[in-house]
Amino acid sequence: MTPSPFISKRAPIYQDVPDEKWNDWRWQLSNRLNSAEDFEKVLNLTDSERKALTTQGLFRVDITPYYASLIDPNDPDDPIRKQVVPRADEIVPFTGMMEDSLAEDRHSPVPGLVHRYPDRVLMLVTTQCASYCRYCTRSRIVGDPSATFSHQDFEAQLDYLRRTPQVRDVLLSGGDPLTLAPKILEELLMRLREIPHIEIIRIGSRVPVFMPQRVTPELCDMLQKYHPLWMNIHVNHPNEISAELAQAADRLTRAGIPLGNQSVLLAGVNDCVHIQRKLVQDLVRIRVRPYYLYQCDLVEGAGHFRTPVAKGIEIIEGLRGHTSGFAVPTYVVDAPGGGGKIPLMPNYQISMSDHKIILRNYEGYVTTYEEPINYKPHDPKTCEYCKNKRVEPGQIGITGLLDGDEMFIKPEGFDELHNRGGGEHRLRADSSKWKPLGIGPGEEK
Ligand SMILES: *Cc1c(COP(=O)(O)O)cnc(C)c1O
Repeated sequence: MTPSPFISKRAPIYQDVPDEKWNDWRWQLSNRLNSAEDFEKVLNLTDSERKALTTQGLFRVDITPYYASLIDPNDPDDPIRKQVVPRADEIVPFTGMMEDSLAEDRHSPVPGLVHRYPDRVLMLVTTQCASYCRYCTRSRIVGDPSATFSHQDFEAQLDYLRRTPQVRDVLLSGGDPLTLAPKILEELLMRLREIPHIEIIRIGSRVPVFMPQRVTPELCDMLQKYHPLWMNIHVNHPNEISAELAQAADRLTRAGIPLGNQSVLLAGVNDCVHIQRKLVQDLVRIRVRPYYLYQCDLVEGAGHFRTPVAKGIEIIEGLRGHTSGFAVPTYVVDAPGGGGKIPLMPNYQISMSDHKIILRNYEGYVTTYEEPINYKPHDPKTCEYCKNKRVEPGQIGITGLLDGDEMFIKPEGFDELHNRGGGEHRLRADSSKWKPLGIGPGEEK
């Protein structure tokens, strides 16, 4: 194995903290920085930061000593600092901002469960994080300890999942699921695993980045009992890839958990093809596959982080072909109003006729591809995967659901839930109206 190029850092004020404390995630959590006074000990604050830190009512601030130590204390534009230390720009509202820009609440059949896509759900299991990103897409609920989900909410989420057989993929998020008390996290995984139609469980977590100390051998031993389990972490800049993160990623992948990365395109942090290339190359060195690069959502207080969409496309164009294919993430815009993630790509197709396509490669080299003249497509009537579908593949319904698919029986109330044209803030599907599993409409056996 090549020696790790990644390093450890500790701010001067933490030099005398004994290693057993520094490496204990509970110590990291209880020693987080959150006031101007705390920050003055680690960073040379700017006037703008001091102003934000002393303004009431801004989104919660908390940073682990580990993560704060990755910041260059004398650089006001440090890319890690900008992600977590508030500045006066946050106080400025911008037009187009929305409280719940992705209309997640409108797609929630029960509190904390967002069912927007046919076969998978997003399950918000806590409002707490190890540190708080200034551009948090869920700042409307995240950070508030009084708004966290109750046991009753959790039972209602499980109840919905048990009654919704088309859900085969449950994505745990929040807040950060890895900040849950170890016993609660395990109970959650155990209860999900009891539901036979849930094939995979995913965890979305920034804990390996904010507090890699949490990724202990015990945590990995526990997680691997619930396979197939996948995890997406959230790294935005190569400076976040430390020796500690590399070790956490190594433990997780050795426990058989495939790791992906979801990053956010942020002005002044990573809106540069050279930074992004270094980021994705360093990620694959620690065996984390870049998954999504998100356009920054329309979130209150985060207007100063937004970039034009063209910047994201330019970055993808500077990656594809220029570096390993598996290091290139998909650039997505999460559609305001709840349309879901929309992938955007540079255009490599110059023109198309019935027999020829004109293409260009990553260097701009133009080429012609001849289409086949006697293409015989597969026969859906004899195909065992097609025969029970009433709708031809590719023919997608309004909600993006394969209507009549034997796996999916639309409950009454589902259309209302997916009605993007307004209505109540939080519509609830009445689970008593779910029809039994296995037989599509009009196909009763
Ligand atoms: C992002 C997201 C998912 C998962 O989408 P994938 O493209 O499968 O990673 C599921 N539900 C909601 C509401 C989401 O925002």
